Amino acid sequence: AAVREILLAIGEDPDREGLRRTPHRIAEAYAELFAGLREDPKQHLRATFDEGHKEMVVLRDIPFASLCEHHLLPFTGIAHVGYIPRGRIVGLSKLARLVEGYARRPQVQERLTSEVADALMEALQPDGCGVVIEAVHTCMTIRGIEKPGATMVTSAMRGGFRGRPATRAEFMSIVRGGPQ
Ligand code: ZN
Repeated sequence: AAVREILLAIGEDPDREGLRRTPHRIAEAYAELFAGLREDPKQHLRATFDEGHKEMVVLRDIPFASLCEHHLLPFTGIAHVGYIPRGRIVGLSKLARLVEGYARRPQVQERLTSEVADALMEALQPDGCGVVIEAVHTCMTIRGIEKPGATMVTSAMRGGFRGRPATRAEFMSIVRGGPQ
């Protein structure tokens, strides 16, 4: 019903053939795109393994799609997530699920970045963690100042990633593609 109102407001005819099922399609798409509102992404970090591993673990280039909460337009990109366990580790797919859980809700990139970092700190209590997100915001590329190609980069460093320059440098070099 709300999408029908939008179509009327922009001067369209919601009953013409091409638009008739659009409200239904958008409702289904939104259920998927905002599914993160109905979960606590930290649940994905519940199953941990004690491997005694105390070196840096990084999952690089996690693709994600989110919607900016100011325009409800997509911003898409990749996230890099790293942490130094204090013994307890989590499956790599869980890190991707964590990013997805926070991405699938109305968001701003800055908050998405820190929510992922804070969740990791809370759930795994690692020595530290780092999250870097690179994304293109369609609210900036297709409207407004229209600057296609501009990429926004945000980072959140916690614990040793914040306190030890060498740790941060090691993480950033892995994120940029080097072995380390
Ligand atoms: Zn926006």
